Parts: sequence; structure tokens; C-alpha cells
Amino acid sequence: MNIMLLGAPGAGKGTQAASIVETYGIPHISTGDILRAAVTNATPLGLEAKRYMDAGELVPDEVVIGLVSARLSEPDAAEGFILDGFPRTTAQATALDAELAAVDRRIESAIAIKVDPEVIIARLTSRRTCRGCGRITSASEGERCLACGGELFQRDDDNDATVRNRLEVYGRSTAPLIDYYCQAEVLIEIDGDRPVESVWADIEAALQPLTTQ
Ligand code: AMP
Repeated sequence: MNIMLLGAPGAGKGTQAASIVETYGIPHISTGDILRAAVTNATPLGLEAKRYMDAGELVPDEVVIGLVSARLSEPDAAEGFILDGFPRTTAQATALDAELAAVDRRIESAIAIKVDPEVIIARLTSRRTCRGCGRITSASEGERCLACGGELFQRDDDNDATVRNRLEVYGRSTAPLIDYYCQAEVLIEIDGDRPVESVWADIEAALQPLTTQ
């Protein structure tokens, strides 16, 4: 099962990816998570990526394409993967296609989660992540994670100005991929402005045909 989640930042990709991983047992490949880990570990990649991330800009294509290419060649991705936050540009999408085609694979479903921009701004500026279990929740939960008791923190790039820029970058660079995957006849569009469980029910139903192949 080679699938990806498309959608603006804050559309709920990370939350739905967690359900996909749990249900289908495929690895979650999130370029945002890989880059944040590099920033935390202050690697050369992290030091380069941080200035783009803090500004809400995209990290250069060649950097991200290299990261994903290395990750896809790891053994756990041999039977499938869920890509989250990649591709974000047409250059990334064509590089991914070429990489997969070279090993006789292809993207089987591109799931686009659609949410109104104003809802996204409200969601992202109140988004919190648990330092303990990585769970994504909102500021209304308080300072501690209800699941594991870990500390809840706000991502550096979830402030109002950076969120607005990330949405602008999404509209300019990433939204055209919806057409790209529509033409490839693998696009599935889901209304993401609903409770998490309803969004998940639609995603699970849409992926059902892939589980019987
Ligand atoms: P995310 O966690 O997916 O919202 O990503 C956080 C930030 O990491 C983005 O705002 C970008 O700066 C960077 N990033 C993540 N994925 C990509 C990508 N595929 N291409 C370029 N930059 C990316």
C-alpha cells in the first residue's frame, strides 16, 4: 500500500496518518517530523532546514527529495508507506514518481484532506503536541497530555504570522498537486472539516479497495 496524505498544514494529516499506521502497519514517513528531529539534534541538515521552517518556507527540493529517497529504501518501506507532508512541489512529485517507477512501484492513493483556511488558522495557533507520546491535541487540553501525562508544547512554526505564510506557500506550491494526482487518477478528496472519527471513516472506506488487491 503506497499512499500519501495531501492537504494544507493543519488539515489533520498527522492525526489521520497515526490511524493509517495503526490499521495497516505501514511506516509513517513525515518530512516535517524528519526535519524537526534533525533540528533537535542540531545536525548540519537541521541547521540548514531551521531557517526555512521558522519562516514557514519550504526547505529546498533537493534536500527533501534526498531525505525521502533514503527513507523509502529502508526495509520497512518495502511493503508500503504513508507519506505525510511530501511531496509539496511538482518537482518533488515527479522525483517521487521516477524513484518509485525505477523499482516498479507507484502511488496508489493520494488522499487530499480539505479544510477551510480560517478553520486551519484557528486550529494551528491552538495546536499542541505531547513531548511524551507525540499525540497532537489542542491548547484547551491544558499543559499535560491526557493520554500519557507528558508536557504539551507549541511548535515554533505554529504562531499566527508563520501559519499565514505556510498557508500562502501551500496555495502557491502544493495545492497544484491536487490536479497532478487527479490526472494520475489516484486522487481521493475528503472533507476534513468534521470530527476526526468521521474523517477517518471516510479514509478507511476509500482505502478499502487497496486492502483486497
Ligand atoms: P509539516 O510538519 O509537514 O507542517 O512541515 C513543517 C515544515 O517543514 C514546513 O513548513 C517546511 O518548512 C518543512 N517541510 C516539511 N516537508 C517539506 C517538504 N516536502 N518540502 C519542503 N519543506 C518541507
